[in-house]
Amino acid sequence: MAFESLLGQPYVSRLLKSALAGKRVASAFLFFGPPACGKKTAALALAKALFCPQGGCGQCNTCKRIEHRSHPDVLVFKPAGQVFKVDQARALLHEASLRPFEASGRLFILDQAETLNDSSGNALLKLLEEPQPGQHLVLVTTQPAKVLSTIASRCQPVRFSPLPEVVAVRLLMQARNATEAKALEASRLAGGDFSAALELLKPDGQTKMDLALGLLEAAASPSKIKKLAWAQEACLDKEELPSVLALAGVMARELLVRALNLPASTHLMPQAPEHGRGLSPEHLEALLAAIAKAQEALRHHVTAPLATEILALT
Ligand SMILES: [Zn+2]
Repeated sequence: MAFESLLGQPYVSRLLKSALAGKRVASAFLFFGPPACGKKTAALALAKALFCPQGGCGQCNTCKRIEHRSHPDVLVFKPAGQVFKVDQARALLHEASLRPFEASGRLFILDQAETLNDSSGNALLKLLEEPQPGQHLVLVTTQPAKVLSTIASRCQPVRFSPLPEVVAVRLLMQARNATEAKALEASRLAGGDFSAALELLKPDGQTKMDLALGLLEAAASPSKIKKLAWAQEACLDKEELPSVLALAGVMARELLVRALNLPASTHLMPQAPEHGRGLSPEHLEALLAAIAKAQEALRHHVTAPLATEILALT
């Protein structure tokens, strides 16, 4: 069940399922493969399978919070900039020294593992050599050759295959009973992130798109009342807020690319330029920073009303 959302990677699904069935899940993995082919989806699916009382039902509170990256025992780390710095490695080590908050263990995902340098890599060696019981580290990379060999050699490597857009679209159509046009639109809006595209094609996907567009409109408006009204509406569903923010981020980035006259990826839904009219590149950069700040706040368990208010007022 947990691997339902991991489509187009039958080899990885089989491998992880068989490890789970045999209770020999490695304490460290290196998931590698092309961008947006399901590596993080697989890591989250593994967390669900490990920590959900039903083995990864996808429906319960545990599964939903893992999906939305708000579960206290499933944390995602990524470099702040070009390098995963030693301070960040120490923060990860500190987390790893804590007992699980509620699950049977803890799972840490380290995205862009190729950005570990000698010092941060060395700091993490202890974690790889002496893992706590029930603790798992999943390193994710699109560039396995650049991952420090001292790190890579201590992980179980798992290779992911590319997911061509046509396959992604076909899988989306099947999974959500969507038309080809809708599936293609969702896949592109989600920037090729398959699980995000699946989310968009849920019945409430339109509401998320409307909320994301509403954020662009509120950001473009000088009215503080309009911004706060958006914040009030958006905070009603805390579980959905992360995907609304991610979607608004994709749109804002696309608008920025267009405002700077760089080649656009044509991912943008037709309405976004209308909603984001009046936003200069500086505005868009500030908006992207504000979205990132709200996302960070949510990850630190700030309440949804506060997170949206931060966003509205930044
Ligand atoms: Zn569950």
